[in-house]
This record gives sequence, structure tokens and C-alpha cells, in this order.
Amino acid sequence: MDFQICQNTQSPEKFLCLNEECYLADKKHIQCYQCLTKQHLSKNRVVRHVDDFIELEQFINEIKKKQNRRHTFIQMIFQQALDFQKSKVQEIQLSKNADLIKNATEKIEGETTKFLRSLSTLYLEQKFTFPYQNSFHVQYVKFYFENENKYQEDSKQKLGILFSQIEKYMHTLDLDIRTTMKRSYQKLEVLEKQVIQFGKQSMYNKLQLLILLLILPYLVYLQFNQFEILKYQKQQEQSVQIQDYLIQEILNQKDKFSIIEKRLEELQFNGTQDIQKLNNTLVEVTDGFQKLKIRFDTFKQSSTINQEKTMINIQNNLEVLQKNISDLNNKEGILQSQIQQIQQKVDKISVKESEQQKYLEEYKRIKQGEVRKVKELIEIIKQKNLMRKIIQLKNYVYTLKNFKDLIKIHLNLPKRKLKDFELIYDELFDKPILIYTMMNIQQKVYKYEGDNPLLCLGGLNIENLEKIDLIACDFANDMLNPTFDSDKATKSRHGDIYWYQVQESSFGFAPNEKIKLLYCDDYDEESEYRLSYWYNLRSSSGGRRLGKQLLLENSTKHRLQLYLLKPIFE
Ligand SMILES: [Zn+2]
Ligand SMILES: [Zn+2]
Repeated sequence: MDFQICQNTQSPEKFLCLNEECYLADKKHIQCYQCLTKQHLSKNRVVRHVDDFIELEQFINEIKKKQNRRHTFIQMIFQQALDFQKSKVQEIQLSKNADLIKNATEKIEGETTKFLRSLSTLYLEQKFTFPYQNSFHVQYVKFYFENENKYQEDSKQKLGILFSQIEKYMHTLDLDIRTTMKRSYQKLEVLEKQVIQFGKQSMYNKLQLLILLLILPYLVYLQFNQFEILKYQKQQEQSVQIQDYLIQEILNQKDKFSIIEKRLEELQFNGTQDIQKLNNTLVEVTDGFQKLKIRFDTFKQSSTINQEKTMINIQNNLEVLQKNISDLNNKEGILQSQIQQIQQKVDKISVKESEQQKYLEEYKRIKQGEVRKVKELIEIIKQKNLMRKIIQLKNYVYTLKNFKDLIKIHLNLPKRKLKDFELIYDELFDKPILIYTMMNIQQKVYKYEGDNPLLCLGGLNIENLEKIDLIACDFANDMLNPTFDSDKATKSRHGDIYWYQVQESSFGFAPNEKIKLLYCDDYDEESEYRLSYWYNLRSSSGGRRLGKQLLLENSTKHRLQLYLLKPIFE
């Protein structure tokens, strides 16, 4: 973790106050110890909130630990829901009714998925990023103080609701089978009664045979219903089996739960592991500091190059000016010698004062003329800068007029559409793009200060180089702008393209502002309009998302290309 150094005390700024009065205030929260203490000094020289002071590093580590616990807990709840879903689906599959199996499975899986989604939206979406940023301060503190029982109770309760909903639904399926059975029983009773009645009426013996013949279809029907009863009994046996299975499952779950509880205890008591983690954090800190240094050096180098360019320009202008001034000096010398000659003449033949005056005025007039010339020269230099601006504006207007249709995300764009462009980057996905690469690209794009040319960034399969599978075109200032959010891209000022370029993560584009940079963009896996490329010093990998293909890390079958529109006016 690298700290700012306080300008007043030269101490590292690494303390904050967690008192509500302070963390809700809109101010700089991370201070050096002396400044923090000074701010908390009351009129009677007592330091307030002293128990709420904490080191930034400890604060952040607590938050990370809490996040891990929360993640593990929610994963456990997910597992329980999925196990329950599995057991219920198995139960349903014992039925012989294909429609019932399809509908009930869809219903149960749908409910479970809805539950998983709502829990991950509520508890797994992160509202801040690391390292610490002042703008997220309130979110960090709220998370730090968050009552863990609350989300645990809430997710358990929601899981209970899911269970009872599915159970209830299962019951309605059972009821249907029972109602059918009940109706069959009633019909059987009626038939039995009728048979008994016919039996009693023995005086109609002669008619008996006829009647029996008449009720024969009913007897067949009765036989059929007996089959139904046998089938139901078989199903009952199966549900007893399911019950046994479920009891076994519950026992398994209890075992799993006690294992998890044990692990949790081990984690809580194992302090040495935490020290190990702290050591790791320390290594990350040193690593981070090294990277910052590299970044600083790179920026320094590039700014030195720019300074040198400007210096050469100024020197050229200075030379021109100096030449003019020396010309002027020469002329002034000639004039002075003329004056001397005049003076001599005056001395020698005492020319009238009016004549002398005339020469002086002449001299003044010539001198004014020279001053005017110098002023004109300065104007020309100013106009040169203005001309550059005008050229840039002309290029911008021309681009907008002729290439407006290109400014969007394209699928399968034929390469001939880019005939006015120059290919300035063309490498396989196995080549990493680091800060140096990005700076080289920027030097090619921005030839003069204030340039903003049209660029196209795309990726393609090498099997067909005549079309680009996925490509987006936009002005350089929108495309190459650094961003800092891992879940939000920035909208282009010219179209429906959303760009991001997050260091230590990735750069690319998306059709809306939502992104999910778990290093590379994993948002909406079905979207064809997303390109995401590693931009991470540590990984030194290339790739890895091109539309629906999310796993193209270091692919040697795909190329990343960057096209630059050739300027019309120069
Ligand atoms: Zn305070
Ligand atoms: Zn300070």
C-alpha cells in the first residue's frame, strides 16, 4: 500500500476516523496522524474520537476479510438451494407423465434460479474497488460496520421461503393424483352397489343373464380401475423410497454443514494464516510501488520528448527573430553612420537646423517601419498555430460528414470499407498490450497537440482476413480515454459505443455501460458486441474476449487490429 506524504508534516497519510460525524462529512478522509489529531482537538485541548482512529491498511484488510466470509456464506446457501432443487427434480422424474415432468422441472428450476439471482444482486455485487478511493469512502465504512448476522439471517429466511414454496407446489401435484384416485373409488362403490342390488333381486333370475351382459362393460371398466389402484400403490412405494432418500440427503447436508462449521472455526483460530496474508499484502504493496515507479518513469520520458520538441520550435522562432533584430541593428548602424556624416556636415558647413530635423524624422520613420515588420513576423508565428487548429477542425468536420456511418460497433465488416485507413497495430492475441505499447500507439495517433483522428479497434479470426469479425470506430479522444470503474464503461460522444481502459485490468468496448471486469469483461456472455483485451502488467497475456468467445487468452488464431484514418488536410 503506497501512501501520500503530508505537505505539512512529511509523515505518511495513513490514518482515518471512523466516527459517524467524520465519515459522513464530505472531505479528505485519509490524513497523517498529526493532522488527524489536530483536527480533532476541542477547545479544552482534548482529542475527540480517539478510539475511532484506525490505520488504513488494517481498515482495508478487515473489509477484505469480511468480503471473503460473506462470499463463502452465500456460496453455501447457493449449494443448499441447488441440492434441494436436484432432489425435487429427481422426485418428479419418478412420475410417468412426460408433460408433468417438463412443466414441474421448469417451474422448480425457474424458482431456484430467481432465488440465486436475487441473492447475488443483493449480496455479491461489490459497491467499491481496491485500492482505496476517496469517492467510495462512505461505502467502505458502511461495509466495515455491516452486521453480518443480518445478511446471514436474511438469506437463510429467503432459502426457507424458497423451500416452502416448492414444497407447496409439489403438494398440488400430489393432490391431482389423489383426486383422480378418489373419483375412481367413488365410481367403484356405485358399481358394487348396483351389482349387489341385482344380486338381491333373485326373482328376476331370468333377466339376470341379460343384466349381467348389460353390465359387462362396467365390469371391464372396474377391472381397469383396479389396474389404476395397483399403479397408485406402486407410486406410494416409490414415494416412501424417496422419503428414505431425502432423510439420507438431510443427514448428508448436516455432515457437510458440520464440516463447514469446523473449517470456519479453524479459520477463526488460525492467526498465523492471517499473518501470512499480511505478508502477502506487503509483497503486493512493494510490487504496486514498483509499478507506480515504472509508470511515472514512462510518463516522465514522454513529457521530456514533448518538451524537447517545443524547445526546438522555440529555438527556430528565436533564430528568425534574432536574425531580424540583427538586420535591424545593421540598418541602425548604417543610419547612425549617416547621422554621423550629417553631424560632420553640420559641424563643417553648419547646415541649418531644419535640415538636421529632416534627417532625424527620416530616421524615425525608417525605425518605425522596422518595428512594424517585427510585429508582423510575430503575427505570422501566431497564425501558424491557428492554422494547425483550423486544419484539425477541417479534418474533424470532414470525418463527421463522410464517416458518420462508421462510428458504431460492426459485425463482419468487409475490409474494403477501411481503404482510407492506415493499419497501425496488427498482432496475434498472444501478444500482451502493456503501458509501453499503449504509449507507442498514442504517439502514432496524436501527431500534433490537439489531434483527434478517427480510429477503429477490432478483432478477427485469421482464417478470413477479408472481413473483421467485430470492430468499433470512434474518435481517438473517446477510444483512448483512461477509465477507472470495473463495472461501468463511458459513453462515446458520437454514438452508442461504450469505452473503457482500466489499468491492471483490460480495455475494450461494449454496447451499453454495463461491464464486469474480473480482469476482462465477462458481462452478458451471449453478447456479440463486446471486445475486451488484457491490459495488465502482471499477467503479460494477450486476448481474451471477442464477442461470444470469452476464452481467447493468448489465441494464435485471432488478431487484434487498430486502424487510423489518414488525414485529408495536413
Ligand atoms: Zn472524528
Ligand atoms: Zn498531515
